Amino acid sequence: MDLSLTDEQQALWDLARDFIDREVVPNTREWDRREQVDRAIVGKLGAVGFLGMTIPEEYGGSGGDTLSYCLMMEELGRGDSAIRGIVSVSLGLVGKSIAAWGTHEQKQRWLPGLCSGESLACFGLTEPDTGSDAASLSTRAVRDGDEYVITGSKMFITNGTWADVALIFARTGGPGPKGISAFLVPTAAEGFAHTEIKGKLGLRGQSTGELALDGVRVPVENRLGDEGVGFKIAMSALDKGRMSVASGCVGLAQGALNASVQYAKERTQFGKPIASYQLVQQMLADMAVNTDAARLLVWRVADLVEREQPFGTAASMAKLFASENAVNAANLAIQVFGGYGYLDEYPVAKYLRDARVMTLYEGTSQIQKLLIGRALTGLNAFT
Ligand code: FAD
Repeated sequence: MDLSLTDEQQALWDLARDFIDREVVPNTREWDRREQVDRAIVGKLGAVGFLGMTIPEEYGGSGGDTLSYCLMMEELGRGDSAIRGIVSVSLGLVGKSIAAWGTHEQKQRWLPGLCSGESLACFGLTEPDTGSDAASLSTRAVRDGDEYVITGSKMFITNGTWADVALIFARTGGPGPKGISAFLVPTAAEGFAHTEIKGKLGLRGQSTGELALDGVRVPVENRLGDEGVGFKIAMSALDKGRMSVASGCVGLAQGALNASVQYAKERTQFGKPIASYQLVQQMLADMAVNTDAARLLVWRVADLVEREQPFGTAASMAKLFASENAVNAANLAIQVFGGYGYLDEYPVAKYLRDARVMTLYEGTSQIQKLLIGRALTGLNAFT
């Protein structure tokens, strides 16, 4: 694996850093306080090509390789995880699934809008009673002539109240993963309702919704993949999704470290900058080493994806390590900032609140350990 970046990758990283510093960083506190990012940011992300990365140009995408995609996600995570999540879901979970599993017509219909930011997508897997055990979901899709009629509810759906299209996983067959199919459901369809979930610990600027589908009719052409492959689509989306989350976690931890180094050099106690004390340097060193280790795990996943090698376990390792490190790094950053770290005047409190969910969604840390354990032993410890 070559650890040096190509000129294109470096240019993309610089572009992303620049964009985030200009368009995101100055607004994050305000967006967090009012619990909503400015929706105009979606169009701006589309205009700069970030919502179409890795999607072929013929479908409105901006192309690019997997590592460039991870570098963009890292910068988004450094800037504001609420924004990173919007992109991770609309492009990473839904756009990439359409690109991988869709027919030519489906790609032509859905991808250009998602890549430009004219439309936004959400990923509806989790239900009120099924989270980690997603294969037992109970939303149903019943075939009726040339249509499916979908009924059920979805919980904790990122972009849920903003999305124009929802990738909904529903049961078309018997129990278990093989009975699940995937559907592209326009959120304007009759019988589709969404409610904003308020009061989140972090990611406050991002829409998180509860979806209710009451006899929603979609034509057969809206089914993504064959009947019964829905769970496979969901799991392959989540494997790549874990790489996006891990990248965002690296950026978040890097942001916490950058802020801590700067603050420690400026803040004076006992007549000297606190950066000159060994115990403070120890915190900075721990953050730096673990954040770099997380970044290298992410880069390894990107390398495996590019070479079309199996990457699921590597993605679980990266997501597990990077998300736990994001929480630890943000927590240490608050320690470096002392009492000021506890106020949202400085960025580190938000980093900690945002980081916490990363160990929960797209598979909790326990689920990642079970996936890694299964790969190591060949034994399933889920049930
Ligand atoms: P549970 O599955 O009930 O788990 C509770 C606890 O039990 C956890 O600690 C878990 O690790 C543990 N546990 C469960 N099973 C086992 C086991 N076999 N062995 C050991 N421990 C176990 N979902 C979507 O579909 N789309 C989205 O866009 C989306 N966005 C989200 C955004 C936010 C802000 C949040 C909070 C969640 C989001 N989710 C989304 C849902 C998320 O993926 C789930 O919350 C997550 O998968 C965990 O499911 P759960 O909350 O039902 O917890």
